[in-house]
Amino acid sequence: MKLGIVGLPNVGKSTLFNAITNAGAQSANYPFCTIEPNVGVVAVPDRRLDKLAEMYQPEKITPAVIEFVDIAGLVRGASKGEGLGNKFLSHIREVDAIVHVVRCFDDGEIIHVDGSVDPARDIETIDLELIFSDMEMVERRIDRAKKAAKGDKKFLAEAEFFERMLEHLSAGRSARSFPMNEEERALLHDTPLLSAKPVIFAANLSEADLANAANGYNAYYQKVMEIAKTENAQVIPVCAKIEEEIAELDDEDKQMFLDELGLRESGLDRLITAGYDLLGLISYLTAGKPEVRAWTIEKGTKAPQAAGKIHSDFERGFIRAEIVSYDDLIACGSIAAAKEKGLYRSEGKDYVFQDGDVVLFRFNV
Ligand code: GDP
Repeated sequence: MKLGIVGLPNVGKSTLFNAITNAGAQSANYPFCTIEPNVGVVAVPDRRLDKLAEMYQPEKITPAVIEFVDIAGLVRGASKGEGLGNKFLSHIREVDAIVHVVRCFDDGEIIHVDGSVDPARDIETIDLELIFSDMEMVERRIDRAKKAAKGDKKFLAEAEFFERMLEHLSAGRSARSFPMNEEERALLHDTPLLSAKPVIFAANLSEADLANAANGYNAYYQKVMEIAKTENAQVIPVCAKIEEEIAELDDEDKQMFLDELGLRESGLDRLITAGYDLLGLISYLTAGKPEVRAWTIEKGTKAPQAAGKIHSDFERGFIRAEIVSYDDLIACGSIAAAKEKGLYRSEGKDYVFQDGDVVLFRFNV
């Protein structure tokens, strides 16, 4: 599961990506490896781990992680092969969701590719490149479905669906705003459209405007909000430059820095949390003396598959999961107390895991 960072040149993508890689390098307890230069791995902020650590005094704390891919180089005309256009578009194809960085700061020193700061135009420019690329894919898919329909009429419905999709895209609208039922959505499995990917806007503000939350930051930010609303997308205010600095600090200094700015959490942390959520991911927790740890699963995952995240043996030999919700555990103060109150449950293979379940697996080896 990966998020791709996109946006026009000079909007602050690399600055934000640096913040991500710095933050990753700061999380000492996780074996962060450099996979590729444009892939950054960061810890998903989770205060529950600290609380559990107070209870268990573990040797190590291991957070969940999420991957960001820096997809630089998307420019106007990319879908027509401008710049290294098609190469960048193929990188977007490989991510599960998009973080669209939008320039919302004025700075005469930093050139804007289109000569002025204008979030609406910038968002449209990027969106259109994705849409143009999708139109080509959809046209090919229509041809294929029509040919197949000569042998088997069931492909007619498919051709018809993609024709409607093409009409929607041709009007400059993203595939994500095209209403689809489950069956139609399934047709996109082998035609993954770029403009269908879920998106978060990261509004890159100046340091001064970032401090102006009470007044809605600035007019650029308001514009991004307006556009995001039409797509049901979230907007996260960040100041990439500050994030880059904060990400180098250890937890204590970071908190001091944020307090000075009057912020509860960093923009990067908010972005990571929003990204995790956008990907449909949740965490269950394991806690003991050796380790307190968060494990990533997709919403709707059942017990044996959740167990399989730890080890395939856990899934194969799954017997049951002993579970107490994080809130109940904290309220009771210990597993023993939770057991006494009847809040410690034994769940079988059909149990759907919930975010914050604190779990012990029973399995056959
Ligand atoms: P990219 O081309 O989108 O990757 O943009 P960069 O991250 O390289 O940023 C372009 C320029 O904008 C650099 O000189 C950054 O230092 C500057 N920059 C990035 N974020 C901010 C910000 O939040 N405020 C200001 N004033 N400058 C920024």
